[in-house]
Amino acid sequence: MIPIAEAIEIVLSHAPHLGVESVQLKNSVGRILAEDVIADTDLPPFDRAQMDGYAVRAADVANTPARLRIAGESAAGAGWHHEMSSGAAVRIMTGAPVPKGADAVQQVELTREVNGDVEILESVSSGRSIVRQASEIKAGETVLRPGEQISAAMIATLASFGYAEVKVSRRPRVAVMATGSELVDVNQKPARDQIRDSNNYTIEAYASQSNAIVERLPLAVDDTEELKRAMREAAETCDVLITSGGVSMGVYDFTKAALKELGAEIFFERVALRPGKPTVFARLGNALVFGLPGNPVSVAVTFNLFARTALRAMQGATQTTLSEEHAVLARDLKGSIDRESYLPAVLRTDEKGVLLAEPLKWGGSSDFISFAKATALINIPAGAKTIEAGSRVKIVRLPANS
Ligand code: AMP
Ligand code: MG
Repeated sequence: MIPIAEAIEIVLSHAPHLGVESVQLKNSVGRILAEDVIADTDLPPFDRAQMDGYAVRAADVANTPARLRIAGESAAGAGWHHEMSSGAAVRIMTGAPVPKGADAVQQVELTREVNGDVEILESVSSGRSIVRQASEIKAGETVLRPGEQISAAMIATLASFGYAEVKVSRRPRVAVMATGSELVDVNQKPARDQIRDSNNYTIEAYASQSNAIVERLPLAVDDTEELKRAMREAAETCDVLITSGGVSMGVYDFTKAALKELGAEIFFERVALRPGKPTVFARLGNALVFGLPGNPVSVAVTFNLFARTALRAMQGATQTTLSEEHAVLARDLKGSIDRESYLPAVLRTDEKGVLLAEPLKWGGSSDFISFAKATALINIPAGAKTIEAGSRVKIVRLPANS
């Protein structure tokens, strides 16, 4: 049994980078950037008015009201490209270039037009309501770097610097295979002794959030030869094969045996983790293989700790693991003597603004009904007995769609 941190190191050291492709800007959200994004212009590209009003010389309007001749108009997209002399003002719109000679913009609400002239009703300091050329960024500067996950907030940056196409890391091809002779698909009514497969769908849901292209393989029965055939085939076409079930100590747990008989390189097969101890990580041909346990909560936990990390590393992400935060434990929680725990929780904020982690009722790793409410996992170190309510605990947020 190896510690979780060591297991994650092993995953990272065996996750190859997948290579790069170009996608259209509108399809880039969520993908991992694979190039430097460089400003190809100054921003703003010229001294820009921040208000509708009049471009003036601050010295001309030190005493107000100050009457100035209107020399012209500078609109967004159609500037007034002359030297503005003392005693003059230029009518200007938000986003328009500030003419040479002007050093401030007075907003239109503090002005009044009188017989073709303008009266400035309040003085302005030099520089007021002007955003100077290159004050946001200089041409040639790097704005975003490879490994960042493209968010909607970054789209304006990419668009503004002309990235109609963006270089991103290729999407991992993931095959998912639920194993267990008791399983039927979601569209079937389980007969006696059967249950519906949920793990394939859980893994598909999470893997898609990591940009994977997911192929759901047929449900596999507990038979070593059949598992071998299905795994050998899958490994030829996918980057990562993720199985669930059949990794414990039962008489019909054949996943590891099948991998070993196929000559897979097994990197680990037991992790000091609750839930999820029997997690397997291997390589079969060119494909990485995660053999996740069968219980649905273990699947969610082990996917997010290990498989998600691999999928992100293969895309060159800077942040591969779920980021850690701290919260205050809302109820007593039992740890485990020999394993680190990652237990489902809901997060909420109390009246003082303190982030609380409320452990969900723990019906064991099969309890996907209570897990449905989970928004985070609480991490309890190995060796801990009971952690008391009010203690500061480490948490990771589960990936969410919103
Ligand atoms: P196993 O690891 O194969 O011993 O499975 C542990 C438990 O998880 C058993 O109760 C299985 O029936 C259940 N299980 C295994 N695979 C799935 C699946 N794909 N969907 C839902 N439950 C499963
Ligand atoms: Mg089984």
